[in-house]
Amino acid sequence: MLYRSTRGHPDRKRFCEILLEGLAPDGGLYLPEEYPQVDAATLAAWRATYATRGYAALAFEVLSRYIDDIPAEDLRSLCDRTYTREVFGTDAIVPLRPLEEGIWLEALSNGPTLAFKDMAMQLLGNLFEYELARRGAQLNILGATSGDTGSAAEYAMKGKAGIRVFMTSPEGRMSPFQQAQMFSLQDDNIHNLAIAGVFDDCQDIVKAVSNDLAFKQRYKIGTVNSINWARLVAQVVYYFAGYFQATTHDDQKVGFSVPSGNFGNVCAGHVARMMGLPIDTLAVATNENDVLDEFFRTGTYRARGSADTFETSSPSMDISKASNFERFVFDLLARDGARVRQLFADDLAAHGRFDLRDDDAFPEAAARYGFVSGRSTHDDRLATIRDTWERFGTMIDTHTADGLKVARAHAKPGVPMLVLETALPVKFAGTIVEALGREPERPAAFVGIEALPKRVRSLPADADAVKRYIAEHCE
Ligand SMILES: *Cc1c(COP(=O)(O)O)cnc(C)c1O
Repeated sequence: MLYRSTRGHPDRKRFCEILLEGLAPDGGLYLPEEYPQVDAATLAAWRATYATRGYAALAFEVLSRYIDDIPAEDLRSLCDRTYTREVFGTDAIVPLRPLEEGIWLEALSNGPTLAFKDMAMQLLGNLFEYELARRGAQLNILGATSGDTGSAAEYAMKGKAGIRVFMTSPEGRMSPFQQAQMFSLQDDNIHNLAIAGVFDDCQDIVKAVSNDLAFKQRYKIGTVNSINWARLVAQVVYYFAGYFQATTHDDQKVGFSVPSGNFGNVCAGHVARMMGLPIDTLAVATNENDVLDEFFRTGTYRARGSADTFETSSPSMDISKASNFERFVFDLLARDGARVRQLFADDLAAHGRFDLRDDDAFPEAAARYGFVSGRSTHDDRLATIRDTWERFGTMIDTHTADGLKVARAHAKPGVPMLVLETALPVKFAGTIVEALGREPERPAAFVGIEALPKRVRSLPADADAVKRYIAEHCE
């Protein structure tokens, strides 16, 4: 299996090369040259695998289609060590529960940081450790987070030999619980950097540092942002696991409703669908930061500036541009790298937008690729959380509420709609109290974490300041 850039660069690479690399040299994102196809016999076999041998065995089946430069036995053991009941709380790993007629919740948030990013990050930590040891190399991970990515990365990498984490986050914009989760880690290899700005300033800093090739090489900078293909492919697995739990036969179709920010989660759904998983609809659910909803409704992709990026009660979806979206556009435009480069490198930089409204390809986003979308506001979120609690006694978090609102708008009779539960309510307790007048339950391991000593450095929104910090802490 070889990987290529969405922007047409001629290089082709293997999995373990792009594992440690992040962005392609031309600024594009990596995608496999083609999607492995899952035929009917394989789908049936995978259904049996998940039912009898569990999630880790299913993960091995999916991942081995994409990773052919790690010996199969090693990859199997990496999967077995990652997806355990001890780490994820259940044997199903991503248990599905019915909510209302036709709508199900798939729990992706039972890992160490109580958000779906653990699903990919726990695997990434083990993959990094494996590959670095194999090469006798070191890695300094530079990341940007609005909350969940950072804590998931730090909990996956803490204490791992050969790895340091430098995690930027927008100062004061994460929930107290999220800040406590990250900043209370005392491991020497974990560095929290609070940036005076919004999430996109953090993301821009990561891009600027990564684009300084000399610095990147000298300090062995890598990334764990959702543009990393290894994270994306790890997420493909739970689309299969959700499908197998919601259906009894492989001729059935399902829909997924996905709380979306950077388009990483739902892009994994797109990949699963391209492999042949019988997905009818992929519903992209946004909050007030509705860049993606606007695109799927109108064909115009309009990145927002910092001033138009709202701080919402589903903060892990507060983005102004969706960094994984380029992968889908590449497929939508029949994998025309020159065209993608024009849109993302030129048009977006010059005008902050591009337009596919009149392009023949745009209607295919829905007709051929199954994408629909919707938007959910703070009031919608409160109403959805309240309604779900009152009618079913089920407490959902704010991001999942956005997914559920949009799921209800797009559910079709006879097609199970799976809402991806991306976080537990305890992470966003303030909004739960606002909606329900009561505190969410807190798992025992998290009682009192806000009072723990914090380890964090404040820095301006300036790539050079971050570079200096990294240089000082890499000897
Ligand atoms: C990251 C995150 C999202 C958004 O996922 P993307 O892959 O960025 O689209 C949604 N909900 C929660 C709780 C998250 O942490």
